[in-house]
Amino acid sequence: MSEEKKAPRKKLAAAADINQFMRDYYLELDAAAAAGSPKIAWCTSVGPAEILRAMGFLVYFPETHSAMLGATRMATDLIPEANAIGYSPDICSYLTADIGAFLRGVTPLQKAFGIQSIPRPDVLVYNTNQCRDVQDWFVWYGQKFNAPVLGVHTYRGVDEVTDRHIVSIAKQLEALIPPLEKIAGRRFEMEDLRRAVDLSRQCSELWKQILDTAAARPSPITFFDGTTLMGPAVVGRGTPKAVEVYRKLLAELEERIRRGEGALEEERYRIYWDGMPVWGRLSAHAQLFASLRANVLASTYCNSWIFSALDPNDPIPSMARAYTELFIVRSDEAKEDYIRRMLSFFQVDGIIYHDAKTCPNNSNCRYGMPQRLEKETGIPSLILNGDLNDLRLISDEQTKTNVEAFIEQLEERRR
Ligand code: SF4
Repeated sequence: MSEEKKAPRKKLAAAADINQFMRDYYLELDAAAAAGSPKIAWCTSVGPAEILRAMGFLVYFPETHSAMLGATRMATDLIPEANAIGYSPDICSYLTADIGAFLRGVTPLQKAFGIQSIPRPDVLVYNTNQCRDVQDWFVWYGQKFNAPVLGVHTYRGVDEVTDRHIVSIAKQLEALIPPLEKIAGRRFEMEDLRRAVDLSRQCSELWKQILDTAAARPSPITFFDGTTLMGPAVVGRGTPKAVEVYRKLLAELEERIRRGEGALEEERYRIYWDGMPVWGRLSAHAQLFASLRANVLASTYCNSWIFSALDPNDPIPSMARAYTELFIVRSDEAKEDYIRRMLSFFQVDGIIYHDAKTCPNNSNCRYGMPQRLEKETGIPSLILNGDLNDLRLISDEQTKTNVEAFIEQLEERRR
């Protein structure tokens, strides 16, 4: 896209606070790794972070690190390192980029925060609610660091979440506690878990309110903003700092709504995004849509860190429910029902499905969902072929042509 065609993008002041939050988060982990205290637990992005925080661990999330590898466009070059030791180019490019970076001895934390390496884990804890790849990923690092690996094996393709699901997952969460007590060198206290769940719930509620501001016309936020503002919801849930930083962000968005100010100079079309972002093209995609007066304003992805079921009065069963009710865990019927509600809530004109080659778990367009939803709602959709991290799987020209044609189609419909 040429310079003169660039649409101006508005910055949120609270974004600077969120950058500082992420800097402090990684520096704290780095200092703990150097000092050997507090202990460090690695956790999957929708894993049981509250239990780990309640037991005094600092919590590190490899997926966020790999998203940074994608956003800094380091990932593509690193993936072959993991392929060379047997991890297929077709599996999760978060996994392959992250393991590749470790094998090469590089990290984006170096340039961003002056941190030389990822923090050594004392324990790694995964939940397969999102996919099996996280288990393989954590087991590999467990062997590398000679650290214990614990896991929750969950249901997938869940239609209705029932008590049977909750009891089974709650039992697995409880079973994590004795080995974690040994590693942490302290007893588990239910009061500490209540506090962590309470903070996590507050963070989740604020994050929901932030994302829901996109229902306003014009929307004060874009999906692309959301992907960079979501750090505290992922890595900071269960901490007071995440709550603090999101209060400020929400106030700024509400102020934009009061002033009638949108995230774009002009919002003619409202678009919903399903699936993973293309981390190495966030800025290019934001620019492309803005130049077409189209606001990609809401997504299944950013909403994945809303855990409305969390309840400090019933911490473990409510965690089991919150981490099973997630979009990615559910059947196509449940997902379609959810998307239908979101299309209406956000008053959407069109849907983009990102078919991410290396993440079938978060690509929902492969079994007829776009066609079914389009037939039911009349809202047109477009499938973009690409990937979250592997830029070799992306054609920028094709994306641009397809998006332009799609927006033209929306314009035709309006006429
Ligand atoms: S959900 Fe997809 S992107 Fe996330 S870890 Fe699993 S395979 Fe990778």
